[in-house]
Amino acid sequence: MTKIGSGRQYCGETARGTGHSVARSLPIHAAASGRVPFSVEFNPPRDGAGEARLWRAVREFERMHPAFVSMTYGAGGSTKDRTVRITGELATETTLLPVAHLTAVGHSIDELRALVGSYADAGIRNLLVLRGDPPGDPLGEWTRHPEGVEFAEELVRIVRDLGDFHVGVASFPQGHHRSPDLDHDTRFLAAKLRAGAEYSITQMFFDVEHYLRLRDRVVALDPVEGAKPIIPELMPITSLRTVERAEELCGRPLSPVVLERLRRAAGSGPVEDKAAVRAEGIQIATEMAQRLIDEGAPCLHFITLNFAKATSEVLTNLGYGVTAAPLSA
Ligand SMILES: Cc1cc2nc3c(=O)[nH]c(=O)nc-3n(C[C@H](O)[C@H](O)[C@H](O)COP(=O)(O)OP(=O)(O)OC[C@H]3O[C@@H](n4cnc5c(N)ncnc54)[C@H](O)[C@@H]3O)c2cc1C
Repeated sequence: MTKIGSGRQYCGETARGTGHSVARSLPIHAAASGRVPFSVEFNPPRDGAGEARLWRAVREFERMHPAFVSMTYGAGGSTKDRTVRITGELATETTLLPVAHLTAVGHSIDELRALVGSYADAGIRNLLVLRGDPPGDPLGEWTRHPEGVEFAEELVRIVRDLGDFHVGVASFPQGHHRSPDLDHDTRFLAAKLRAGAEYSITQMFFDVEHYLRLRDRVVALDPVEGAKPIIPELMPITSLRTVERAEELCGRPLSPVVLERLRRAAGSGPVEDKAAVRAEGIQIATEMAQRLIDEGAPCLHFITLNFAKATSEVLTNLGYGVTAAPLSA
């Protein structure tokens, strides 16, 4: 493989302390149990208390055997050192397989190469390669770093050239908000896959039809790239407050049907029936997950906000037989 940039290349090696190779790809094709695998997404904590909460969730998820866990990357790398350190600790101090999100926003190509090197040094070989959200406002204007990349596709090539990494990318069931139309959006996804990505993880959605249509579009455009796994992302809604966060992550308003179900559960009284909203949110996520399993989704990826309980409840409803207690909210 050609050496680029600093000339440093990262080849597969064994993770410190764990004895297992971290250059392995995601185990999302055939689960030993015969059930569709699941995975979870964590966010870098902002402080010590947040870190303690994250580790509680990590230990709870360890008992449930997710196929992998992913760690998002804060806009512009504001929590870079903490993120790299914790993701490395997931590789070396747990039984979990971590995937680090790598974003281009605010970084030169040299900085991105150095960041990939930090992940490699920390034992991370699986990267979800993204352009990243503009800091402050995810829907705001994108500005390329003067010495950076414009699109995720370029970063996929850079990472693949750097060595032995398994790369995933983002996909958008309803199209990325900056794509001119679904046709262009599908072509850009196929280009990222062709550049060397092995799978994609979708933006969160609340209508399974959008996921199925995305899958059909990629297969119709390019049967080879269309055969690569498209992992659907789900978030169990646990309160009306989390609706806002869900809409931010969807990049769109929540589906009216889902919103109506949650509002009905909240009741018409002056005080929201929080328990009913939570139960309805878990039910909605369970129904979506079951449909995705029936439709052949390769894995179910859950946004957790660093809590284990809601995801655990959905998995229990699906008959996954995970240990549900004692868990954090
Ligand atoms: C599963 C998942 C995880 C995420 N994790 C993070 C995270 O950790 N941190 C974070 O900051 N953000 C994260 N995001 C958000 C993501 O970074 C943003 O949605 C971002 O705006 C798009 O990223 P991308 O990698 O899809 O970009 P790209 O693939 O580069 O696409 C960006 C835009 O450019 C268009 N485009 C792509 N290629 C071309 C081309 N050749 N010519 C013209 N237009 C093109 C696309 O259609 C799109 O509109 C995540 C998103 C998902 C779905």
